[in-house]
Amino acid sequence: MKRVVLLGCTGSIGTSTLKVVEDQPDRLQLVGLAAGGNADLLIEQGRRHRPRMVSIHDASKAASVQAALGNATEVLAGPEALIRLATLPEADIVLIAIVGTAGLEPALAAIRAGKDIAVASKEILVMAGETVMREARAHGVRVLAVDSEHSAIFQCLDGKPASSVRNLWLTASGGPFRDAAKWPKEALEAVTVEQALKHPSWVMGRKITIDSATLFNKGLEMIEARWLFDIEMPRVQVVVHPQSVVHSMVEYVDGSIIAQLSTPDMCLPIQYALLYPDRIDSDRVQTNFAKIGQLTFEEPDTDRFPALGLARRAGEIGGTLPAVLNAANEVAVERFCARQLGFTGIARLVTRVMDAHRVVEQPSLDQILEADRWARAEAESGSQAG
Ligand code: NDP
Repeated sequence: MKRVVLLGCTGSIGTSTLKVVEDQPDRLQLVGLAAGGNADLLIEQGRRHRPRMVSIHDASKAASVQAALGNATEVLAGPEALIRLATLPEADIVLIAIVGTAGLEPALAAIRAGKDIAVASKEILVMAGETVMREARAHGVRVLAVDSEHSAIFQCLDGKPASSVRNLWLTASGGPFRDAAKWPKEALEAVTVEQALKHPSWVMGRKITIDSATLFNKGLEMIEARWLFDIEMPRVQVVVHPQSVVHSMVEYVDGSIIAQLSTPDMCLPIQYALLYPDRIDSDRVQTNFAKIGQLTFEEPDTDRFPALGLARRAGEIGGTLPAVLNAANEVAVERFCARQLGFTGIARLVTRVMDAHRVVEQPSLDQILEADRWARAEAESGSQAG
């Protein structure tokens, strides 16, 4: 039995993780849950799974959650709550699915407490991938990918060293604005929040859906792959694959390419990460090639989608720049969703903040967190400057 702590239990990845746990009652047990503000769903999940500890970021709701769950479950709130959960003595693995950067410190705490981590929150590896991987090596724990692309690469690599890899190929759906004939560069200026939230192949949380429309999601994933698999940026490639069936590929030095395929469903990479190294029976994902018909591939359009170039630059320069890209993008997405910034303004705002940043090489965790704070303030300044 693997005992799981789930941070971000009420979100898209969180609720898929609960399905996986419920599919595998003899193998997986939830011992800790953390939510942001959705007390009703946390209570429902807590009643079903009876975890030892839960937390809610919105402290005003902690008392009602405690009253609903009774004394068998300890309810926490406040800044230390996520760290307590991440280091819960009985946990074997901590799955981090909190949107944004709030998962970074709990991830490091879990590693230092000797727990494997399963990472959905790619922001953690974008900001501090070098630190996270170094700490994981030092403590002999695994960092398992939940992102479908990185899970695919992990499965295709199957333990082979970086020296046997020519390129990693991340596939991108291309998002709702892939078609240049329908969405020329000028038309992207006027894209609405509603249009950007309509993803062609995945149902996900709001932030990642907008990131998929700008291709910042793929940019963040390039940096995530760089650290997870210890492959320098020039060997991390992106190809657009609108069907989202090939989840990613590894091109080996002998020219052979290995891909992982399935119909898109996050339950599959979540189950793989939680039960690694075992492959366990599940009927949830079925792939019918005749129905899919064709698998197509295209060059990404870096002119209409500058995010890929920005991420490559951040990944190649390294230091604090990836944290700055990530933080500026988070602010830009919030401002886009609040209708204070146009769709193409997101990349312009991130470019402006990256250009203004003085990179710290080989930063400490404090310097990374400071760069994150600086970038957020810089992105907030200049109001409509994006
Ligand atoms: P959602 O917005 O659907 O969910 C976010 C979760 O984080 C919610 O449970 C939310 O709680 C919780 N949360 C937010 N702030 C805090 C906090 N301070 N403390 C505790 N919990 C908090 O996001 P997704 O599930 O889509 O994405 C989560 C992460 O996984 C992101 O980093 C994303 O990039 C990544 N990812 C997502 C994929 C997907 O298919 N959705 C695929 C691959 C990666 P509440 O709702 O209660 O406020």
